[in-house]
Amino acid sequence: MLRDKTAFRAVSEIADGFLDLLFPPKCPFCRKILTRPGICDDCAADLPWVDDRDAFRVIRGLYCAAPLQYAGAARRAILRFKFGGHTAAARAFGATLSACAAERYPGMFDAVTWAPISRERRRQRGYNQSELLARAACRTWATRPEALLVKTRDNPPQSGLRDASARWANVAGVYRPAPNAHLRGKRVLLIDDICTTGATLCECAQCLRDGGAAEVYALSLAMAGQ
Ligand SMILES: [Zn+2]
Repeated sequence: MLRDKTAFRAVSEIADGFLDLLFPPKCPFCRKILTRPGICDDCAADLPWVDDRDAFRVIRGLYCAAPLQYAGAARRAILRFKFGGHTAAARAFGATLSACAAERYPGMFDAVTWAPISRERRRQRGYNQSELLARAACRTWATRPEALLVKTRDNPPQSGLRDASARWANVAGVYRPAPNAHLRGKRVLLIDDICTTGATLCECAQCLRDGGAAEVYALSLAMAGQ
């Protein structure tokens, strides 16, 4: 197992080195070119990090953590990542997420998944930003996330709904466990891009629990309203 992980990491690092030559890593927040993927020192000092006091929000019994507040440069970078095709930012975001998970949920999960989007939305956008985040976070642990959920309805985007009750109603019943997902007894880290009301995360978490997951912990890149 250890040897497999070492080999996996070595292959990943060679692939990353090759990609760095073709596409030099940039700070996802200010777009400055960097020698290695990550966040530049200026942005790291200025970003709206969630401080220890606000380490968690508990929404309807679900622990939700995020490294960043959804504001300022963090908000702009996430919008570019989500809607502007800036998928290269996933590597730096993934490292930020894995550091946050290690701090807030140490040894508390044994599977990682993401909030799915509908097939129609995926076709339009070309990618699921939350899946990219989960994959990037997992690379630092030399593992892969699992597609444990599917979205069964192409509901209107949560970002277009201002009212909290409309957001909760919009996601009710739109997820189900993926076919062949092994959930029984698993402790799942659920990754999404932004936590606003927590409706998407709570609905996904409930679906995972209904499918047999023992515990679910939510992690998003940014949290609104902190
Ligand atoms: Zn920067």
